[in-house]
Amino acid sequence: MAIKRLLIANRGEIALRIHRAAHEMGIETVAVHSTADAEAMHVRLADHAVCIGPPAARDSYLNVAAIISAAEITHADAIHPGYGFLSENAQFAEIVEAHNITWIGPKPEHIRTMGDKVEAKRTAGKLGLPLVPGSDGAVSDPVEGARIAEAIGYPVIIKAASGGGGRGMKVCESPDQLDTLIKQAGNEAKAAFGDDTVYIEKYLGNPRHIEFQVFGDGNGNAIHLGERDCSLQRRHQKVLEEAPSPVISADERARMGGIVARAMADMGYRGAGTIEFLWEGGEFYFIEMNTRLQVEHPVTEAITGVDLVREQIRIAEGKPLSVRQEDIEFKGHAIECRINAEDPFTFTPSPGLVTNYHAAGGMHVRVDSGLYAGYRIPPYYDSMIAKLIVYGRTREGCIMRLRRALEEMVVEGVKTSIPLHRRLLSEPDFLNGDYSIKWLEDWLAEDATG
Ligand code: ADP
Repeated sequence: MAIKRLLIANRGEIALRIHRAAHEMGIETVAVHSTADAEAMHVRLADHAVCIGPPAARDSYLNVAAIISAAEITHADAIHPGYGFLSENAQFAEIVEAHNITWIGPKPEHIRTMGDKVEAKRTAGKLGLPLVPGSDGAVSDPVEGARIAEAIGYPVIIKAASGGGGRGMKVCESPDQLDTLIKQAGNEAKAAFGDDTVYIEKYLGNPRHIEFQVFGDGNGNAIHLGERDCSLQRRHQKVLEEAPSPVISADERARMGGIVARAMADMGYRGAGTIEFLWEGGEFYFIEMNTRLQVEHPVTEAITGVDLVREQIRIAEGKPLSVRQEDIEFKGHAIECRINAEDPFTFTPSPGLVTNYHAAGGMHVRVDSGLYAGYRIPPYYDSMIAKLIVYGRTREGCIMRLRRALEEMVVEGVKTSIPLHRRLLSEPDFLNGDYSIKWLEDWLAEDATG
């Protein structure tokens, strides 16, 4: 069924991103916002806007009753959740559907399965995806934990079944620490996620983080759109992403992409998804699946020419996938820099008044951001204020253009991570594509001492 009016249950750059795709399809938009976001760009651009509560996310962007009411009073016929907030909340998806509003996202049961990391791993294994060696399911008994850790070999990592955002993980180097760390991980998981279920897997020493973008129509057809390399992380948070990965060949992409697309087809997956792997010694190891649009989706759009949000909306309308696997060509190279309002050395958040703003431009340069001069960045939400995405025919060309674009970007009044990205782009290891998930933290630590 054609969508006429879309409510965007999010804020910031992703709310704008969705608004843009909707308007290009002739769909009206409804913004929702907290009182802290009344002056935000996503509110200004939308056709309709509804205030859904006070600044704290739990009272506004996570407030299911307020969001459903906003959809009803504005006669919105669809809801797009963006990323974060309610995007991976299966119950919210069910509530939306129960109100006869089109949910722009995967089937609720798939969100639920993949949201539980133990279930996700089990499902991925059944679908034929390669797994990190580890416990078959939850570990509750220390004796059993010790036996599993012994069998896979130390170091091991203890992870929370309901973990997210890199929280609830403990690396264990030797048998004598195992008992304590399992207990600690369980307690922390209980406090953070209300669930103390943990599992164990082999700790990989120096992997890359490589993820595949997938799309399913919900009726057994699925495609992959290649991989993204998101190995540059700080505290498990991605800092810069690129596509394609500097270490994956076209043959390997086709092989692994084929495996993930087949898995999604078998599952009957609907909409956009990302299958995350660690990659070490030429092997892929599944870690988790995100049942939503990712922050870093634009690098995939840049090298495939497919508008992923448009595709999500089409699928929610019951239309088939707009492209076939054989039509997808991977062309050139794209890099995204996440620009945060934070101190580039200490990483302390730096909200406040933006006194001056100038976005980079020119050929193949894209800035996704809700910033404008005079905007006050509220202190209540994620510190990411802009994404700079640059395309080039080659990786080298892309890096040259990205340097030029970073020179042009001006954000004054608050501190930003732009200087960090500028420094990163002259590092030989980065230029050679020679980095793992450890690299950025090691480099920052060296910088701090040297
Ligand atoms: P979250 O859902 O909290 O993001 P993930 O399972 O995606 O958790 O893991 C986040 C990050 O933690 C990965 O990108 C990687 O840096 C690290 N990590 C996770 N599992 C392992 C492992 N088995 N070995 C080494 N590092 C890991």
